[in-house]
Amino acid sequence: MITDAAAAIVDMYCKELKLPGLRSTYGDIARDAASRGQNHLSFLAACLAQEIESRRQHRLATRLALARFPATKTLDGFDFSALPGLPKLKVLGLADGTFIRERENVICVGNPGTGKTHVAIALGVSAVGAGYKVRFISAVTLAQELLLAGQEYRLPRYLKGWGSYDLVIVDELGYLGLGPGGPLLFQFCAERYERGSLLITTNLEFSRWTEVFGDVTLTSALLDRLTHHAQILIFQGESYRFNQSKERLKALSEDKTPGISQQ
Ligand code: ADP
Ligand code: MG
Repeated sequence: MITDAAAAIVDMYCKELKLPGLRSTYGDIARDAASRGQNHLSFLAACLAQEIESRRQHRLATRLALARFPATKTLDGFDFSALPGLPKLKVLGLADGTFIRERENVICVGNPGTGKTHVAIALGVSAVGAGYKVRFISAVTLAQELLLAGQEYRLPRYLKGWGSYDLVIVDELGYLGLGPGGPLLFQFCAERYERGSLLITTNLEFSRWTEVFGDVTLTSALLDRLTHHAQILIFQGESYRFNQSKERLKALSEDKTPGISQQ
């Protein structure tokens, strides 16, 4: 039986010791322990376990927010049958985060709509779950931020800021919209080499990367380095969304065919 006075004291101690997880649940844990005739030590263990779990959840939520994923995607929600050429086991294997520990890179290359961003986010979410610090950013935004940092004479500090991430996901490297940001993006990738993992999604085959970065010699040197420690995933197929809308349209038109209608 929890008296009001005892509860007030536990409340106060939880606040003082900064134990928010325990504070919100100790009543339930105490009632549960009493109903099951649990001994004091087991009760204490349950209290501590609850606080640990609540901190883990909080840390996870903070890191997910920090990663700034544009949507929630999972590998469970990815239809591998749509891309028979994509090695499913290899992709699932990447989800354990070993490539991040080894500071390897992942490059997803393929046509628009084939699920590159989906897989990139899913791998990022798994990495957060495994305790890594992850950040997702589009190539265009990154190029803009790099340009701005350069104009404001704080490029070295800006680049250094990225050093705290275990995995940086640069989404949609394409040759449009980067302009003078291209060479800075090159510098970003070069600095990151072997310091941390990079996951790049792109619709450009490697031979066209010079159009983004500008300099042919520098680009081939960078590609050499990046791909040396990289898992390259080729997304070859039609746009998933396009295929789905095609199927929907087909289903609709079949519904409207006289005699086949379900009504
Ligand atoms: P890309 O980055 O290659 O242009 P996206 O990852 O943005 O493609 O995919 C476009 C949309 O289609 C997203 O909503 C994504 O979740 C979905 N999608 C693409 N491929 C698949 C797939 N194989 N299984 C499930 N959803 C997919
Ligand atoms: Mg994309």
